[in-house]
Amino acid sequence: MSLLPQKNQLGFFEIRLESIGGLGANLAGKMLAEAGVLGLGLNGCNFSSYGSEKKGSPVKGFIRFCDPDVEIRDHSPIEEPHVIGVFHEALYKMVDVVKGLQPNGVVLVNSVRDFENVKHDLGMKSGTLAIVDALGIAVEEKTKVNTAMLGALFRICDFLDPDAMRAVIRKTFEKKYPHLVEPNIKTFNRGYEEVTFKVFKEEDSDNEPLFNQSQPVLGYDSQSIGGTIIAQGNSILKDVSGSRQGFLPAYDPNTCIHCAACDNVCPDFCFVWEEGEDKRGRKNMFLKGIDYQYCKGCLKCVEACPTTSLSEMREELNYAQDHTVKQNHPYITGGVKS
Ligand code: SF4
Ligand code: SF4
Repeated sequence: MSLLPQKNQLGFFEIRLESIGGLGANLAGKMLAEAGVLGLGLNGCNFSSYGSEKKGSPVKGFIRFCDPDVEIRDHSPIEEPHVIGVFHEALYKMVDVVKGLQPNGVVLVNSVRDFENVKHDLGMKSGTLAIVDALGIAVEEKTKVNTAMLGALFRICDFLDPDAMRAVIRKTFEKKYPHLVEPNIKTFNRGYEEVTFKVFKEEDSDNEPLFNQSQPVLGYDSQSIGGTIIAQGNSILKDVSGSRQGFLPAYDPNTCIHCAACDNVCPDFCFVWEEGEDKRGRKNMFLKGIDYQYCKGCLKCVEACPTTSLSEMREELNYAQDHTVKQNHPYITGGVKS
């Protein structure tokens, strides 16, 4: 009898991880496949696609499982997965993360927002949505987002054995980083226990697909020039917001003394200044705000700030977009001239 709950025409159960370079989706996919193959005796494979191989640019991880008597002769990217794991909500603006999801598939999202908001942003009409605060768990346990996501993925793929995953975590870390074994197992367990689910019934009866199906959006007329990097991490847009791993500096102008300590430590010239006059009419430079397009979330500025003007905050979707102050210096490449 097959262990797999669903299979496509080729006999595969397929999982696609949508992530950003640096969040560990590649390793998560490898560990997930290993737990299914070594732990359950399934046939399986895993591979990733990196795009421009740049931290902050989109990454996809693919995992295929099938019964032991089925050979895997298909190593193409997974277009119509049964499960999708979204590691970072910044992906929504550059990737159609739910593209091709099977009608009865499950989408797992790393988020602190509620089901209705996430559903709306995904463009989801119906289906099962799972949400876990993987970043919050990782911060509390001093581990990484990928292990918490793995815990939640195991809860969704309940044919997999969580003990097999705990054994893989142990094997992966115990030689080089033995101190990381227990925190990672705890992170995995919390992801497994803390993921929540909501099933949405179809709202419309117009027989529209539940998600965008896997029709190619690029063709003969619309294909970009070969080798072009169209994701946001390219050298034209210079948008490094995808490099942030959940945190950014929030600026409160009311307590700012315009000392420029933040500007001195910022590696990416994110602070935007304007000339003005102080209370005595003397000319001075005043901090206007932060251009979050260039901010990678290192938080060096928060450490350097002598007042409470800069504070660390958990990034909310669209916060950076709504609070960014654009660079207007003509010598800052990519800045917007006023
Ligand atoms: S978090 Fe880092 S990159 Fe962002 S503004 Fe502060 S110092 Fe600059
Ligand atoms: S370090 Fe703090 S107080 Fe100084 S300019 Fe920057 S935000 Fe203002």
